[in-house]
Parts: sequence; C-alpha cells; structure tokens
Amino acid sequence: MRSPFVLMILLAGVLSPGAWALPQADPVPGGIIVLPLNSSSATPPEVIFRDTRTAVVRNDRQEWLAVIGLPLGLKKGSYTAYLKKGKEQVPLPFTIHDKQYETQHLTITNKRKVEPNKEDLDRIWAESKKKKAALKTWDQTIPELSFIKPVEGRTSSQFGLRRFYNDKPRNPHGGLDIAAPEGTPIKAPADGVVLLADNFFFSGNVVYLDHGEGVITYYAHMKEHKVKPGDKVRQGDIIGLVGMTGRATGPHLHWGVYLNQTAVNPALFLAATPAKQ
Ligand code: ZN
Repeated sequence: MRSPFVLMILLAGVLSPGAWALPQADPVPGGIIVLPLNSSSATPPEVIFRDTRTAVVRNDRQEWLAVIGLPLGLKKGSYTAYLKKGKEQVPLPFTIHDKQYETQHLTITNKRKVEPNKEDLDRIWAESKKKKAALKTWDQTIPELSFIKPVEGRTSSQFGLRRFYNDKPRNPHGGLDIAAPEGTPIKAPADGVVLLADNFFFSGNVVYLDHGEGVITYYAHMKEHKVKPGDKVRQGDIIGLVGMTGRATGPHLHWGVYLNQTAVNPALFLAATPAKQ
C-alpha cells in the first residue's frame, strides 16, 4: 500500500519532465563525454579539459557531472580532464572511440564564397576573432541542457561531414543543417543571452546565444535577426527567421552547439531530451 507521501514523490517525478536532462553521451571526436565528479558541493566544481574550463551540471541527486565537448580533430585513445581541488588537480581519465564521418561534395556558384579575395579574407579574419571571443564567454549560470529543436524540418546535412566545396577541401561541417522554408521562425532551444547578432561572410546573418558555463549555441544563414546583443531569451522565443544568407545552397538553419569552445554534434542534445509538456 502506498502512503500519501510516496504518492507525492511519484507525482513530483511525473509532473516535472525535463527538469533535469543531459545530452546523449557519445565519446567520439565531435561528441560529448559526461563524467561524474563525486561531489555535491554548494559551489560548482571547476573542471579543465585541454586548458579550457568545462560545463558542470547537477543530476537529480544533486551530484555534479562534467559535460565535456570533444573536438572533431581528436584521435581515438586515452585522455584526461582535471578536477581542481584547491591546489590539487584530480585526474579524470576517459577513452575516446573512433568515428568516421562521411564526405560531402557541394557546388557553390558564387566562386568568391569558396575562394575569397584579399578584401574578403580581411573580413573573414575579423569575423573569426569575434567568433572566438564569443565562444570564450564564461557566465556562471548553470546551463539548462534539455533543449528543444530550434526549427522543425528534415536534417539536410549531419554534423561532422568532411566537406569539399567545388572539389576544394574545406573545414568539416561544424553544425547540423535543418532544411525549412525561408521565413520559418527559429526558436531559442533553451534560456540564454544574445552574445552576437551580426552578418558574416560565410555564415550570413548569425546569432550566438550564451546558455552559461561555456555552453554556446549558434544560428547561421538567417533571413533576418529578431534579437540584438544583450537580449535575454527564454526557451522557445523567436530569435530570427530561416534564410540562405552567406554560403548556402538553399534555405536552412545551420545550428551549432559549443561546449568548452568545441563544436559538438547538436543531435546529441535532441536525442536525450524528454518530452516537454
Ligand atoms: Zn551547416
């Protein structure tokens, strides 16, 4: 027989889906590893991977977990993150498995978007500095990792594809492309603050959102922005409209997710998201 107290606990569990959620762990290049820290301290523990601080979140037992982004360029093998305890650094060893990403060939008619001229290169350089600065942002807010999908639509390009533009090798695909008609509203996947709303050479109209602790999301090729730097957004707020500005072959949202200044597979944030009510 259940006491009212037990029933209350059960109901609380049912009534708060998504109150706590993690991305799907995938210990491969471009994936995510989640490491338990055996700590339930009042202040968030400090974890470092490759000289960069990582996000930490609490599980439903109030224990801390590090959520670490794994760069696409890493090889399979053994790696170590470090938990700072005063002057001590406690090693947190883990293993990364291999993953072969597929190759994609794209044809771009605007040749300048594949082989930029000197003036374009100066602009691209300045934009990459802005992007790096945005990704280095550290805000102490503990991020909410139960994301909603920013746009409904089919995936037109997976994360991590090894890309060739007009047969020239270029950077691997650092986000997830979702095809949708021009003008479709783009929603913030979680609460955050707008870091950048700008126009970039390759990425067209872009927005960067800061969700806290180095968890940054990125939206490219927008038709237009609906937010400006400094704006606070709530999950589901419209931040812009789908378009094809910059280097794009058709209207779509390029969605990037960064942890510890590292692009990771955004699909991992959708796979493990419990249904929202
Ligand atoms: Zn893309």
